[in-house]
Amino acid sequence: MSQPAAVGGSEAELEPEPQPSSVHPAVANEEQKWPGSASAPASGAKEKTTSTVPPLPPPPPGLPLAARRALASLSEEASKLRRFRRSEEGKPGRHGRQKKTKRVVTVDTSKAKTSSEALKICIQQLKWKEFPTGRRHLCDIYWHGSSFHDGEVSSSGQVNKYPGMTELVRKINFSRAVRTMQELFPEEYKFYPRSWILPEEYQTFADQVRVSKENDSSWKPTFIVKPDGGSQGDGIYLIKDSNDVRMLANLHSKPAVVQEYISKPLLIDKLKFDIRLYVLLKSLDPLEIYIAKDGLSRFCTEPYQEPNSKNFHRVFMHLTNYSLNVHSGNFIHSDSVNTGSKRTFSSIVTKLSMRGYDVKKMWSDIITLVIRAIIALVPELKVYHQTYIPPGKPGPTCFQILGFDILLMKNMKPVLLEVNANPSMRIEHEQEISPGLFEYVASPVDEEIKVAIIRDTLCLVDPALKKNNRHQSCLTDGAADSDKEETIEAELHDMNGTPSSKEQNWSSLCLKQVFPKYSRQFSYLLIVDRIALLFIRFLGIKGSMKLGPTGFRTFIRTCKLSNSNLSMASVDILYIDIARRWNIIRGDRGESGMCFQAFMEAIFHLAQRRYKTPPLREQVEALVNFLTDCSPTASFSPNGWDNLGCRFCRNANQSCSVIGLSDVRSQRLKLTQILRPSVTSYFM
Ligand code: ADP
Repeated sequence: MSQPAAVGGSEAELEPEPQPSSVHPAVANEEQKWPGSASAPASGAKEKTTSTVPPLPPPPPGLPLAARRALASLSEEASKLRRFRRSEEGKPGRHGRQKKTKRVVTVDTSKAKTSSEALKICIQQLKWKEFPTGRRHLCDIYWHGSSFHDGEVSSSGQVNKYPGMTELVRKINFSRAVRTMQELFPEEYKFYPRSWILPEEYQTFADQVRVSKENDSSWKPTFIVKPDGGSQGDGIYLIKDSNDVRMLANLHSKPAVVQEYISKPLLIDKLKFDIRLYVLLKSLDPLEIYIAKDGLSRFCTEPYQEPNSKNFHRVFMHLTNYSLNVHSGNFIHSDSVNTGSKRTFSSIVTKLSMRGYDVKKMWSDIITLVIRAIIALVPELKVYHQTYIPPGKPGPTCFQILGFDILLMKNMKPVLLEVNANPSMRIEHEQEISPGLFEYVASPVDEEIKVAIIRDTLCLVDPALKKNNRHQSCLTDGAADSDKEETIEAELHDMNGTPSSKEQNWSSLCLKQVFPKYSRQFSYLLIVDRIALLFIRFLGIKGSMKLGPTGFRTFIRTCKLSNSNLSMASVDILYIDIARRWNIIRGDRGESGMCFQAFMEAIFHLAQRRYKTPPLREQVEALVNFLTDCSPTASFSPNGWDNLGCRFCRNANQSCSVIGLSDVRSQRLKLTQILRPSVTSYFM
């Protein structure tokens, strides 16, 4: 049911207290557990501060009658105004005569596109107020269907997209971000198949394949070519050879990623399937990540065979995309969430568990994969963020639901195929009711998964929660308690569907916080994040995403990097060389300067030059420690710049949420501890 847009604004924020009899039973149950949602008072403290018409003081004795009358009439006017304001803000009068009202959370869904139906259900369940055609006044939450820049961006409230996310998860950019992490932490980032960027890395690809084949003649790899910016399996094909004719023909016209093909996936009923897992990036700083306990499993519609030149073209066998398989005659739309070509992931987990697979380990690996992938994305996301929402300037805060596409290998190890900035939140599917005549019908499996995810997301970003941390701690399950050592394995009961006693508070919620909850095990990976903060600091002009030559020189000077081995002239040459190359690679014809990836390359170069003994990770770590010692790094924060926060989480001046110390000065002592992760290494 769509609501008309409110014109006046203030009335729309006033809603009578919901009547218990009209509450949907499922929500009534959950409302008890989500005290920060619509049924909770929006703010108690604000009431005192927002009344801009304070009562007039009593008239001093001996005042002439005319003056007393004037004061009395002024006082009457003031109390009228106060009453009017109270009624406008939904607050009870001084004597409690007015009907008790609360402030309702407002959501602008005018740009929500295909998420609209699911959103509508969630907003109704939460008894919030939807504005499907937009609103003249500001809303609390803006739901965009595509990207941060869908139309005009609000100067306040919250938007469900981060600036830059769409660009960063494109196939080439994402492969680059993961590559940077693979160079530093090769063992930790093996969950992403070996990939090469075309055309720029074609020669490396060809050389590496040739050498590997020479070393092992039994190695008969298959590769998958995926056009950059493509989606839904569009333009994807398999190849055996680096001199494949189709790939060479498209080399320069269609930038792409060529990737090792996982030829031994786990099969169910002889079919290949993948997992669509939903992840909420709730906040960039401090980093907060939630994973949905359930997702979707999308099945191929033709029995799987390992790739050979005869079956390369059989998309229904090799590609799990719903958008492709739905056109196969074998696709099964099911009313049950446990059967058909699209099922809940939990139904697969149950099946695997019954067959004796270690699903707890699988979940642990999936959570690890998600956190590591987000850690790879976050540094450049911060660069985008400071450009589009500069600190100190009005702008919304952001959150985003991401879709992770994961394949399970035969040995149950998860492999990340890609991250979607814009996962489909559609809860209907197209059905041909008679030849050539289509209509949208409800899809129970989509509805079950997606409505819960959107509703949980809304509850987590409920503006009332920000004002009431006590309530939030119920949702985050004690995650802020960073002194407690938690391991992923120890906490997996709830992901397997067996609630732990601790979980009882929010067992109905599908989003589960994984960061900062498990942050200690991952904090050593945040090194690129620290480099991003340096980059942002020396960018100088806010609103720019590229470092100019002066900024680079200032960086070198401030950080005392130039010496007899590194003259300022060679610094200039280094800058020109790297910046120009990256601008050619990225096809940037607009703004000149050094992009973040180019800066990363410069840092790697400087680290290798300064610290001769590899590995690269130790060289870079040593350099970054040296740099942050020389140059107090400003801490990124949507609210402004704090000077020299924690060296690791950059979060607070006095306490660190990553390593849980109250005194930042003693962090050095703990450095060795946090460098040793307690989650078992990925391929052990
Ligand atoms: P798109 O964005 O076009 O959907 P994906 O990267 O998700 O591109 O790939 C489409 C499908 O191809 C996946 O859903 C999966 O079934 C298959 N696929 C992609 N990469 C690989 C890989 N490296 N190994 C095996 N299958 C893959």
